[in-house]
Amino acid sequence: MAPLGTELALSRLRLLIRGAVQGVGFRPFIFRLANDLGVKGWVTNSASGVVIEAEASNPVLQEFLQRLEAEKPAISFIQSLESTYLDPLGFDSFSIRESCGGEKTALVLPDIATCPECMREIFDPANRRYRYPFTNCTNCGPRFTIIESLPYDRARTTMKTFKMCEECSREYSNPADRRFHAQPNACPKCGPKLELWNPQGQALAREYDALCASAQAVREGRIVAVKGLGGFHLVVDARNEESVRELRKRKRREEKPFALMFPTFESVLKYCDATEVERRLLRAPESPIVLLRRSQLRDGLAESIAPGNPYLGVMLPYTPLHHLLMRELGFPIVATSGNLSEEPICIDEHEALRRLHGIADVFLVHNRPILRHVDDSVVREMGGRELVIRRARGFAPLPLHVDRELPCVVAVGAQQKNAIAASVHSNVFVSQHIGDLENATSHEAFQSVIGSFESLFELKPASLACDMHPAYLSTQYAQASALPQIPVQHHYAHILSCMAENDLEPPALGIAWDGSGFGPDGTVWGGEFLLITDGKFQRVAHLRPFRLPGGEKAVREPRRCALALLYEVFGERVFDSGFLAAGVFSEEELRILGTMLFQRINSPVTTSAGRLFDGFASLLNLRHMARFEGQAAMELEFAQNGSPIEDAYPFRVQETDEMFVLDWAPAVEEAVTAKDEPLSAASSRFHNMLVEMCVEVAKRVGEKKVVLSGGCFQNKYLTERLIGRLREMGLRPYWHQRVPPNDGGIALGQIMAATASLQLGRE
Ligand code: ZN
Ligand code: ZN
Ligand code: FE
Repeated sequence: MAPLGTELALSRLRLLIRGAVQGVGFRPFIFRLANDLGVKGWVTNSASGVVIEAEASNPVLQEFLQRLEAEKPAISFIQSLESTYLDPLGFDSFSIRESCGGEKTALVLPDIATCPECMREIFDPANRRYRYPFTNCTNCGPRFTIIESLPYDRARTTMKTFKMCEECSREYSNPADRRFHAQPNACPKCGPKLELWNPQGQALAREYDALCASAQAVREGRIVAVKGLGGFHLVVDARNEESVRELRKRKRREEKPFALMFPTFESVLKYCDATEVERRLLRAPESPIVLLRRSQLRDGLAESIAPGNPYLGVMLPYTPLHHLLMRELGFPIVATSGNLSEEPICIDEHEALRRLHGIADVFLVHNRPILRHVDDSVVREMGGRELVIRRARGFAPLPLHVDRELPCVVAVGAQQKNAIAASVHSNVFVSQHIGDLENATSHEAFQSVIGSFESLFELKPASLACDMHPAYLSTQYAQASALPQIPVQHHYAHILSCMAENDLEPPALGIAWDGSGFGPDGTVWGGEFLLITDGKFQRVAHLRPFRLPGGEKAVREPRRCALALLYEVFGERVFDSGFLAAGVFSEEELRILGTMLFQRINSPVTTSAGRLFDGFASLLNLRHMARFEGQAAMELEFAQNGSPIEDAYPFRVQETDEMFVLDWAPAVEEAVTAKDEPLSAASSRFHNMLVEMCVEVAKRVGEKKVVLSGGCFQNKYLTERLIGRLREMGLRPYWHQRVPPNDGGIALGQIMAATASLQLGRE
C-alpha cells in the first residue's frame, strides 16, 4: 500500500508570506515560477502580507516552495511563511490578483532567526558588529519577546533603556538602510552586553570573553545556563555522556528526550536523515526544533540524550549569540529549556540564579530584558506536510484567519500543554505554549499570558471559553472570573481546531483520540468519533470502555492499563493465570488493584485511546512504567520500526442504538497468546487494527470528510497509514498543520465553539 494513498492528486497550498516581500517584484516572480512549474492559482498583496494559492500535485508544490525560497528576488526577505494545504478548487490558470485591502489588524510579529546579512556582519572582523551577539535588522531579531505594547516602537519594547549611539541612530533614521526603524537596533557601543556569572551572580567575564569562557565550560563538561531569546537554555556538550546524565539528574528529568543545537545545517546531516520538507523546516525563519530520524545508532552522541528513541529533536542557531557560541564550539550541544521539569522556562537572570540554582554551573547572561517566555517550537513532518507539535517561538502570536467576523472571546485552553487564544475580528490569536498547569509557577505564567494578551490586543471579551473538566486549573480560572463562561467539550474542541485550520465547514466525521478528556456522561473520554454538524456534535462511536484502577495514576503506570484491559476481557481469571509477565506487579500490589477493580473503587471508566496504547505497550512487555507522559505510546510507535506487516489484530464492532463500540478484546486475547511474535510485528498489527477501526467507522457513518485530532495523531505511523487508507476508500482525511493535535490546540477549538454558540444565540 502506498503510505499516503493518492500522492499525485491535486492539492491547494495557501501561503501567507510576511517580511520584505511587497514592492520588490515578488508577485511577478511568483507568477513566473508558477507558470514554469505548471502551478495554477493566484497571488495577491494584502494588509497582512503576500497571499498565494497554488494548486498542483504534492511533489510539484514541494518544488514550488523550495524554489520560492531559493530563487526569490535578492532584495526580498521572508520573515514568516505560513503554509496550509486545503481542498483543491480546480483553477485553470495562474494570475496576479488586484491587491485586496483587508482589515489592518495590528500584528505582533514573532521573533525571527538571524538573517544572512546580519550573519555576515558578525563574522566579519572589519565590521563594527563583529562578534556582537545582539545584532539584528528589520528582517530579523527579537519581536514578541521584547514588545510591551503596540504600536511596535522602541519606546514600547524592552530596548527602551538602551540609547542608540550616533551610528545606530543614523541607520535607524535612514530609509535606505537595512536598519531603518529596526526597533531593537544595537551595536557593541550602545546595546546590550554579555556577562558570565557564577551561581552567586558575580561576574566572571564580560562581552566576548564571557562567551569564550562559556564555550570553555561546555568543553569541560559543565552545565551552562544561557539566556537566549525567549528564555534560558541549559547547555551541555551533546557528546559527553556524563554531562548529559548529570543534567538529567539535576533537572530531575529522567528520560524525556533533550533537544539539540547543531553548529550548521551540514553538521545535522552527518547525524540525521532529512527529507526535503524537513530540510526546509530546519532552515526556515521560524527556526524550530525539527524531529529527525537518526541515521545511525552509534554516532558519538551521548546515549542518554534520547534513550531508545530513533528520532532527535534538532535545531540550528537562531540568534547571533547562538551562532557565535556554536562557531566557537563546532560540535552539537544539548539545548534544553532552562527550568526544573514541568515548570515554565526561566526568563530573568536574577530569577535564574534562584530557580536554576544547583542545576547550572555558570550563567551566560545579558541585560536585554525578556518580556515574556517563548519556548522553542517543535515540528515534524506528517503526511508530507509540516506539523507543529509545540507552537511557540517563530509562530506565536501570528493569528489564524477565518472567513467571518467573530465576537471577542478569550479561550483558556486545557490543563496539559496549555496555550490560550483570543478572537479579534476575523483573527484568532493563539498564544505561545505555556505548559502543564500543574504547579504555582506555570499557573502564574498562564495568568500573565492572559494578562499580556488582553493588553497587547486590547481585548474586551464577551465571554471566556473553557474546558468542561472541573479540576482543570484553566476551568477554575474561568469560573472565578466575572465574565460569562462557555464550557466546551474537550474532544469537540480538538476536532473544531483541526477543522478551523483546514478551512472546513461541517458536516464532518471527527476522530478525536488522546489520553483523556472530560466526557459529559461522567466517563473519561479519549477514543471518540464525533459527527460534527452546524454548531453541535453527536458521539457516533467510541472505543470499548474499561475501568482504570487508580485513574490518573495509570498515566505513569502503563502496567495498570494492561491489567485493566485484561480484567475487562478475562475477569478475575487474570489474577491467577500467567497473562501478566512475572514481576510486573508484586503480590501486594495485585491484591490492592484487584480489590479496586472488584469493588469499583477509584477506578473510573475510560474509552481512552492513549491508555489503550499504554496497555498494549505493557502487554507486549515493552514498558510497564513511564518516566514521562506518553512514553509508552511513543515506544510502541518506534517498535513498529518499518515492519512490512500488513495484517491487523482482530477486533469487533458492536452496534447499540446509533452508536458503534469498537471492541479491542480479540486483540488482547491474541496479544497474550502469541507471545513469541516479534515486537515490530505486534506493534504493526496493533497500529493497523486502530487504523481499520477508524476506516470501519468512517465507512459506516458515510461522511466523506474525516478530521483527525488529539495527541494520538502525533504518531506518524498511525496518522500516515490512516490517511492512506481513508484516501483509498475515496474519503478525504484532514489533519493538523499549524496548530498542535495535542492539547496545545484546544484553545483554538474552544474559540470556534464559543463564537459559534454566541452567534447562533444572537440569530
Ligand atoms: Zn538581519
Ligand atoms: Zn550603536
Ligand atoms: Fe486532548
